[in-house]
Amino acid sequence: MRYISTRGGGIPQPFLKILLEGLAPDGGLYVPEEYPKLLAEELEAMRSMTYPELAFAILSKYIDDIPSADLRKIIFDTYTKEIFGSETIVSLKKLEDNLYLLGLSEGPTLAFKDIALQLLGRLFEYALASAGGKDKGTLNILGATSGDTGSAAEYAMRGRAGIRIFMLSPLGRMSDFQRKQMYTLQDKNIFNIAIKGTFDDCQDIVKKVNEDGEFKHAHHLGAVNSINWARILAQTVYYFWGYFRATRANTEHVSFAVPTGNFGDILAGCIARRMGLPIKHLILATNENNVLEEFFTTGVYRPRTGAEVAVTSSPSMDISKASNFERYVFDLVGRDASRMQKLWSDLAEKGAFDISGSPDFARIPATGIVAGRSTHADRLATIRSVHEKYGALVDPHTADGVTTGLKHREDSVPLICLETALPAKFADTIREAIGINPDLPASFQTLATLPERFEILATNVDLIKKYIAAHTY
Ligand SMILES: *Cc1c(COP(=O)(O)O)cnc(C)c1O
Repeated sequence: MRYISTRGGGIPQPFLKILLEGLAPDGGLYVPEEYPKLLAEELEAMRSMTYPELAFAILSKYIDDIPSADLRKIIFDTYTKEIFGSETIVSLKKLEDNLYLLGLSEGPTLAFKDIALQLLGRLFEYALASAGGKDKGTLNILGATSGDTGSAAEYAMRGRAGIRIFMLSPLGRMSDFQRKQMYTLQDKNIFNIAIKGTFDDCQDIVKKVNEDGEFKHAHHLGAVNSINWARILAQTVYYFWGYFRATRANTEHVSFAVPTGNFGDILAGCIARRMGLPIKHLILATNENNVLEEFFTTGVYRPRTGAEVAVTSSPSMDISKASNFERYVFDLVGRDASRMQKLWSDLAEKGAFDISGSPDFARIPATGIVAGRSTHADRLATIRSVHEKYGALVDPHTADGVTTGLKHREDSVPLICLETALPAKFADTIREAIGINPDLPASFQTLATLPERFEILATNVDLIKKYIAAHTY
């Protein structure tokens, strides 16, 4: 399997060559040359597999430059009861007939991002240790977080040989829980940098540091952001897992409701569907920042900027530009790289592109996606009604998925709503909805009392470069 850029540049690369890369050199994103289509008997055999067996069966179709036994060990070391709390790793929780929650948030940081990042940490360590020649050695990861990504990445990379992680976060703008989760880590390879600014400021700094090719090269900088292909790949697995738990035969179809920000999670669903998993609809749910809902209903993609990006009670979906969206559009336009260059240059010049009049727009229904948005009031109402009706507590992001999912629900098609975080992470909104505090998992009871360790820096690229240079490998 080789990987190509969505903008058509460069030569196809094997998995290990793109694992540590962010963007392709031409500014595009890496995608596989083709999506393997599963045979009916392969799908049937997967039904009875354990989670790590299933992950190995799927990932080995995309990764052929890691020896099979090594890949298997990496996967089986990742998806364990010790890390994810149960042998099943991901649970399917029934709310009523044909309505389920897919429990993706039982990992160390209580959000679904652990499922991909725990694997990524081990893949990075392996790649650094096994690479020959000039690739061998060390990696300094630079990232920005508004809360969930940072902690999931730090828990995945803590203590790993050859890896240091520098995570920028906006000072005073995360929930207490999110802050404690990150800043109380005492591992020597973790550097928390609180920026006197917003999440967008943090992201800008990361972008500017990466634009300095010389600096990037000299300090072996890498990224763990959501455009990393291995993250997407790891996420395809739980669509299969959820499907097999909710159905009895592979002739049945299900739909998934997916709370969406950077279009990573739902892209994994699109890929599972392309591989032949019988998915009827992928229900894309946005919050008030409805850039993607707008695209799927009108054909206009117009990322918001600055103050246009609302601060909402489902903060991990407060994204202006959906970084993985380019991978979806690449397939939508029939993998026409010159059309991609045109659309993305429109985006750069005019701040938007419009495919409403083209056959590409008419192809959207065939990709299975339907879209909707919800507001703070919807979120609260859904948290309340799911609690009253089913005795289950969902976090604000999951609630956005459930809200839009129920609007598009069809009789006799099981609806599986992805649970992207546990309510404990967002206690304020839960209290506002139902007047009680969510349960805190036992491992986090002591979190509030642990000492914090972080550096406060101004919104100044040179200052941050200096800090990084002084602390990298
Ligand atoms: C990251 C995140 C999302 C959005 O996922 P994308 O892959 O960016 O679309 C939704 N919910 C929670 C809790 C998250 O942390």
